[in-house]
Amino acid sequence: PQLANQIAAGEVVERPSSVVKELVENALDAEATQVEIQIEQGGAGLILIRDNGSGISKADLPFALARHATSKISDMEDLISILSFGFRGEALASISSVSRLTLTSHTAEQAEAWQVHAEGRDMNAVVKPAAHPIGTTVEVRNLFYNTPARRKFLRTEKTEFNHIDEVIKRIALVRHDVTFTLTHNGKRIRYYRAVPAQSELAQKQARVAQICGNRFIDSANHILWNHFDLAIEGWVMPLSTSELESSQIVQGIQYCYVNGRIVRDKVIMHAIKQAFQTYYPDSFLSDDKLAYVIYLSVSPEQVDVNVHPAKHEVRFHQNRTVHDFIYQAVMQSLEAHCA
Ligand code: ADP
Ligand code: MG
Repeated sequence: PQLANQIAAGEVVERPSSVVKELVENALDAEATQVEIQIEQGGAGLILIRDNGSGISKADLPFALARHATSKISDMEDLISILSFGFRGEALASISSVSRLTLTSHTAEQAEAWQVHAEGRDMNAVVKPAAHPIGTTVEVRNLFYNTPARRKFLRTEKTEFNHIDEVIKRIALVRHDVTFTLTHNGKRIRYYRAVPAQSELAQKQARVAQICGNRFIDSANHILWNHFDLAIEGWVMPLSTSELESSQIVQGIQYCYVNGRIVRDKVIMHAIKQAFQTYYPDSFLSDDKLAYVIYLSVSPEQVDVNVHPAKHEVRFHQNRTVHDFIYQAVMQSLEAHCA
């Protein structure tokens, strides 16, 4: 089983940022409203994720580290989400098989917190009492310490940390309601505070400003449009040559979500570019000359998301409808923006 775990780890745990992604998603699944991410040495030394979610009971703690231990599959709908998201109940087992992992948790029903520890091969089934507020902390030390070939593939601290930073941005952009803190080597690098919700729009806008900067929010076209079961909200900004040269902040803002999942999609991009081109016939826009944050929602039966869990692809059943809708939405926003 240990070998199986390490093989599974190859699928789930590519680098520190994939560990961070899995653990933060677990925290969000547990309905945390605050997630704190502490990183040391680009994640090779320490990845610590603390949340204020529902916690794991004492009885369930040892099982959380076992393979195929998931509390999340109970019906057909879940089965469909497995098909789309891939692995279930593999993340903690996989991560613990290639690191020294400590899991500490406190549920509201229990008087105290409890802890389990696993070192690569050896999962220590002893559950010890611990001190912890309600919620969970997962501490992953010495990632890949027992798989030297993988450890060798780790890049510089800075590169690995940048990947982690990007993972947090992607998640924080769709979870405006959650506060995220990211520290590296003891220094706080990001603080995305969930603003008290006057409206969902205000909260979303505040988060996009926190991550992408006020300049982006202020200069970009705001798109807000819906038609039957399609809805889009977003900010799109064509970048001039001087902006591309001078501003590193706006560059690289390329986030597109379909039903809350980050995607890269040609249909969406084509529609946006075509609208800009129609409005400004002389401009030539390539993908890298566009900064955007787009949230599209489509009724679930109109889209396949299970093309490949890691590739961020989607397939719309009606490409044409989606394309025309987005084109209309962007045209509308351009007319309003320039009026
Ligand atoms: P999965 O998320 O696919 O169920 P994981 O290996 O990521 O599998 O986690 C195993 C189980 O451990 C989860 O189903 C959940 O019950 C529990 N768990 C993991 N992390 C947390 C957390 N931060 N808060 C509460 N429960 C958690
Ligand atoms: Mg998980």
